[in-house]
Amino acid sequence: MPQNELRKDYLLNRWVVIATERSRRPTDFAKQKTEQAKTDNCPLCPGNEHVTPPAVLAYLPEKDGIRKDKEQGDFRFKNWLIRCIPNLYPAFSPPKEQAGEAQIMKSENFGFAIGHHEVLVESPNHNDHPSDAELTQIVHVINAYKDRLSELAAKPYVQYVQIFRNHGLQAGASLSHAHSQIIATPFIPLIPKEEMETCKNHWKRHTQCVFCDLAQKETQTSRLISDTEHFAVFAPYASVHPMEFWIVPKRHAANFLSLTTTETDAFARTLKTTLKALKDLVNDPPYNFGFHLALDKNAEDYYHWHLEVYPALAIWAGFEKSTGMYINTVTPETAAVELRKTINP
Ligand SMILES: [Zn+2]
Ligand SMILES: [Zn+2]
Ligand SMILES: [Zn+2]
Repeated sequence: MPQNELRKDYLLNRWVVIATERSRRPTDFAKQKTEQAKTDNCPLCPGNEHVTPPAVLAYLPEKDGIRKDKEQGDFRFKNWLIRCIPNLYPAFSPPKEQAGEAQIMKSENFGFAIGHHEVLVESPNHNDHPSDAELTQIVHVINAYKDRLSELAAKPYVQYVQIFRNHGLQAGASLSHAHSQIIATPFIPLIPKEEMETCKNHWKRHTQCVFCDLAQKETQTSRLISDTEHFAVFAPYASVHPMEFWIVPKRHAANFLSLTTTETDAFARTLKTTLKALKDLVNDPPYNFGFHLALDKNAEDYYHWHLEVYPALAIWAGFEKSTGMYINTVTPETAAVELRKTINP
């Protein structure tokens, strides 16, 4: 009888049991329709701009492109393509006055949640999720991520900017309108920090970037999902989530601020293709995605940005919560083959 496998993450000191013995097919998860939050009187839909705070960034259509602007006071734009607004119930909020590190961390184990928490409305169309939106609209979303990342990263009290997306009620999306969130924090949170440390040590020993190596090596394995000129997509070796996949750019860069127009188009296409495959294969499952990136100039050599997509198909229960060790009932190799077949039937 085949033994279940223990696999360690490429970078994190985190183990997963890959349950090959009671392994499941991706389609086993496809029975239920993803529950979405109610849509009556959606505060993110056009016409309801006044119930949200003024946008810190709006993309407005112009004859020959996009105009970028912000709203002030009671003024709201009507004809927008993208709106980025402060969260009404922010986890992190800007300092009242100039904040140095001393004002944020009061002691080793107490501080103030100084930072930013924004909602990026990805489209005026309620259901324009990346799996279904026009490529031009997804390009606007990526450009808006870049604009917000560059503005937030420049603030002296911001150490990290987490850009993420929750899709479906079970994945934490309390609004079903297509949107992402951006949280800027006064220190680098645990997981990106541990990734950075490992990458840094690897660089010191081998003068080589872990992710450059991965993006190349995983295209030769059965975990490969898509391989194009600019991006490699694969199911990571020690996936903790069933159907988890990562999108890794082939050109080394610590964050995506330097994406060219061609690379931005390619990223939009990759995002749409892979999320559409997930939607088609598992009946629009709830999922989260999050970017991992570095803002520190010193990290430019050793860190390499990427997007991690976590389908929310398993419940983390007593074992996972008490140990920080996970059980994944879909092997990454099965996830990859099924997603690959869905993309290229
Ligand atoms: Zn809406
Ligand atoms: Zn690299
Ligand atoms: Zn990562």
